[in-house]
Amino acid sequence: MSASELLRIRDLSSAWAGVPVLRHVSLEVAEGEFLALMGPNGSGKTTLLRLIAGLDEPTGGSVELRGRDLVGVPAHRRGIGMLFQDAQLFPERSVWENVAYGPQIQRRPAAEVESLVTEMLELLRLRSLADRRPEELSGGERQRAALARTLAPGPSVVLLDEPFASVDAELRREMRAEFRRVLSARRTAAIFVTHDRDEGLFLGDRVAVLLDGELRQTGSPADVFEHPIDERVARFLGYNIVPAPAGPMAVDPSELTLARSGEPGVSAAVVARGWSPQGTGLLVRAADGSVWEVVLPKDEVGPPVGSTVQIRWQRGVPLATSLDRDRPHME
Ligand code: ADP
Repeated sequence: MSASELLRIRDLSSAWAGVPVLRHVSLEVAEGEFLALMGPNGSGKTTLLRLIAGLDEPTGGSVELRGRDLVGVPAHRRGIGMLFQDAQLFPERSVWENVAYGPQIQRRPAAEVESLVTEMLELLRLRSLADRRPEELSGGERQRAALARTLAPGPSVVLLDEPFASVDAELRREMRAEFRRVLSARRTAAIFVTHDRDEGLFLGDRVAVLLDGELRQTGSPADVFEHPIDERVARFLGYNIVPAPAGPMAVDPSELTLARSGEPGVSAAVVARGWSPQGTGLLVRAADGSVWEVVLPKDEVGPPVGSTVQIRWQRGVPLATSLDRDRPHME
């Protein structure tokens, strides 16, 4: 175990009614690290968090915190905090009481609880709301109060499951910055689950991509985005997969254009056309049935739905051949 390693997940597997949901997931998180766990809905992200937290039992594998095996250790003794999409605060208690709950359960002396709660309320800018009950808070304030409550017992790692899923886009930006600031200030490591690619890439020190219960790729946001390991990871990251002569390539929608006459291209049918902030968006279906997203320059209206167009790409990322495609890649 390296000096900065905090959490080590080895070969973790899980099943629902005999159907595998997680397959041999191995992952490490360093002290203070912010890991974004990304994947589409149903890929097993929540299941993985629940196993780490001790809320469910794995069918195989282990979870270690600072070298200590957590198998058999109940959730409330793991020293791991968890925060879900909808803040689960005690409805009949004030913000202050909610935040004090963890340290009180730990039987800390009253004076210590007092100063801990004060510090947490300060850190999350909640001091003026200390006496309010959850129903008297806005959605964003509730999430901040829930984070304060999660952090108050002093966990070394917190598991955050889509904590901004129910806050609107404007507040979301603010909350992202706030959560990062607070976790850095406390040097608390986090596994942050999101199905939002941009949110994961923006927030993570490192990102991990989970697809169909398998951890397909981990690495820095730039590394994973610029070098997706296979077609499925590339698709999740929003790339189009095109049949280049040397093998499949991942192409960003902005790098696909309509071929002008005389230029080489691949034939495709326009199935939808709509507005996007980057320019006119087209969805086209190629002969092999795959659907690509094309973003045209802002001033181009683009061809109507139903027409046949020739598509070409300017730049793309070559993808692994089928030989190494089934091998998950870790950095
Ligand atoms: P994610 O968090 O990535 O959306 P989940 O971990 O919630 O994915 O779910 C992974 C898979 O496990 C899904 O196929 C889902 O249907 C299944 N699953 C999750 N919870 C249950 C449950 N309580 N009972 C049966 N199947 C479940």
